Amino acid sequence: MPKCQACGEQWSWFGALKVSFKRLTGKKCATCGEIQYPTYRDIKVGMVGILIIMTLILLRTTFDISSVTTVTSGLLLAAIFILIIPYSVQLSNKHEPLW
Ligand SMILES: [Zn+2]
Repeated sequence: MPKCQACGEQWSWFGALKVSFKRLTGKKCATCGEIQYPTYRDIKVGMVGILIIMTLILLRTTFDISSVTTVTSGLLLAAIFILIIPYSVQLSNKHEPLW
């Protein structure tokens, strides 16, 4: 789990998940109240996730995989990513550009 860069407090899984979706606005640390921003390492993880889902969609049209299989595996991947993101997110005191 990520640690607050201001006070060093370790964030909860849910807090880490929430901050990873608030790249632009950041999220207040529950302990010190300092705004923390996710760093771009987790954004790259998100990009990989989008790439995998896009590949699945492409494979579906190429190999004629049923839509049920595509939707199920897409949902499964999304669930796995939501579980993984809080472990990969890192916090920063300031907003960092994407690249
Ligand atoms: Zn803090």
